[in-house]
Amino acid sequence: MAAELRIARENLEAPFLKKVAEISGQNVFACYQCGKCSAGCVFGEHMDLLPNQVLRLLQLGDDSVLGARAPWVCAACLACTVRCPKGVDVARIMEAIRQLSLRQGLTPVEMKLDRDFPQIALVGAWRKVSP
Ligand code: SF4
Ligand code: SF4
Repeated sequence: MAAELRIARENLEAPFLKKVAEISGQNVFACYQCGKCSAGCVFGEHMDLLPNQVLRLLQLGDDSVLGARAPWVCAACLACTVRCPKGVDVARIMEAIRQLSLRQGLTPVEMKLDRDFPQIALVGAWRKVSP
């Protein structure tokens, strides 16, 4: 059964939502759910929430996005950002969610090192799990 989502004014004023706006500099309410970000996301098929779904949950003040895998799967490629007709920098929002998750000790990513791992990939991945 789907989890119940309560829509309430206090959710829209949730402190975590203000933090997302502060860190990302973005207005999540500018999103009108056209889905262009998700349609162009290179890693969408590996995400538990598509980028537009992340935006929608934020708009509803649902902090479950902080435990989502999607921001960690995000490669910060900026495809979503350049495709958004409302000028929402989705990649920055994904980064803000990662930062807030780390601050709360939520790191749904496990680093598995491989002998053939390219150095640059290692550095990029390590940045994601370093507060
Ligand atoms: S920046 Fe992240 S969310 Fe946006 S298109 Fe790239 S992988 Fe997807
Ligand atoms: S492209 Fe922009 S307006 Fe469209 S769903 Fe994504 S964030 Fe929202």
